[in-house]
Amino acid sequence: MKLRSLMSACLLLVATGLSAQQFDKYFDGRSLRLDYVFAGDNHSQEIYFQQAYVTPQWAGRRARLAEKPLNGNGQITLRASGTDSILYVHTFSTLFQEWQATEEATRVRRAFDTSYLVPMPRRKVDITVTLTNFHNQVVASLTHTLDPTDILIRPLGPNGISHRYVWKGKGEASVPDLAGCVDLAIIAEGYASNEMDKFHKDCQRVADALFAHEPFTSLKDQFNIVAIDATSPESGTSIPHLGRWNLTPTATHYDMFYTERYLMSQDIHRIYDLLADVPFEQIIVLVNSDTYGGGGIYNQLNVVTADHETFRQVLVHEFGHGYAGLGDEYFYDDSYESMYPSDTEPWEPNLTTLVDFRNKWADLIPNGTPIPTPPVALPNFRQIRNDKERRQLNEATQRVGVFEGGGYQSHGVYRPAQECRMKINEVEHFCPVCSRAIRRITDFYTSQ
Ligand SMILES: [Zn+2]
Repeated sequence: MKLRSLMSACLLLVATGLSAQQFDKYFDGRSLRLDYVFAGDNHSQEIYFQQAYVTPQWAGRRARLAEKPLNGNGQITLRASGTDSILYVHTFSTLFQEWQATEEATRVRRAFDTSYLVPMPRRKVDITVTLTNFHNQVVASLTHTLDPTDILIRPLGPNGISHRYVWKGKGEASVPDLAGCVDLAIIAEGYASNEMDKFHKDCQRVADALFAHEPFTSLKDQFNIVAIDATSPESGTSIPHLGRWNLTPTATHYDMFYTERYLMSQDIHRIYDLLADVPFEQIIVLVNSDTYGGGGIYNQLNVVTADHETFRQVLVHEFGHGYAGLGDEYFYDDSYESMYPSDTEPWEPNLTTLVDFRNKWADLIPNGTPIPTPPVALPNFRQIRNDKERRQLNEATQRVGVFEGGGYQSHGVYRPAQECRMKINEVEHFCPVCSRAIRRITDFYTSQ
């Protein structure tokens, strides 16, 4: 939902770029799952390592291992033990860091769990986890050494939860192409055992909705989608403001951080347990609910409801956050004003403070475009009266400029188009800058 900012979004070469051939030299083809706890308050944070697991298959990239597509708000880095040689880098944002911006974080210290998958190393590695602040400064760091022969690395495998492929990007072969595709797992949340048929239909609706939106339509051969049949003792999820708490597989609830429509889970370890037997890179928790809500956190989690009338729009919007690190282009109330400080370029590819605009979408704006770009008169998106007005709004998504307002701030943060899927639900399209970001990150994860 609320992603934080920090630095330039271009593809950064971190160190020596390891090639696909080198993958097999350093990694054995399985996944190493690393569980951490991030804890603190509004001005302090600490990182604790909890446990390591190994799962049967690695679904992530096998090339460009030491590069990162975006900076995110945190990073996990594997180095050959005792050396500076980077073997693998992964970046992310976290619910914990979102929580740090809340009022609650000014008066209590809390802990949030999280998990990461990295390729299982053949030899000893030094693993460093860092968290960064709004100014892209590292504010917490933990380095620990992991020996792949450690007898306490717990193997995970079949957990009794069945899964089935909804879509295989490289055809209907029995074995999905893990390396050539982004592997998206959809977990059933709030579906009772007699609602699994509905879940499978809803998963098909997820695939249809995603692939109905460009650039996902053009990229569909680069995705696998697998449905995880986790059953709930009760139908539906928890709605604390109605006093309703349900026992569900991923422990989602509305009212996260006391925001009614913020539907999220903070039980990441539990979610990874559900996926013990499934190769995956991205997670959508599909909630059996018709109440508006959801969230997307870059490389952590996407949550959407299956039955709200805006299901399709919310799905692609939240997946824009969780998968491509896109920032919110709206700015209704200036409630998160500290999130994008004026001296720091956001890392989100579709927001800029003009600190380093050259590396953002400067190449996509027509010559002579004024900065800031003056908005044109558009129909009120809340009261679309006819097709002409709808067309006018959709056309506004494709005119690239530098429009002031975005990232919850009406001043000092700029967005690429007057309207975009990352701004309002009422338009069909991503702006060209968001579309390019989705294409770039997909190519990054699937390059071989
Ligand atoms: Zn956009």
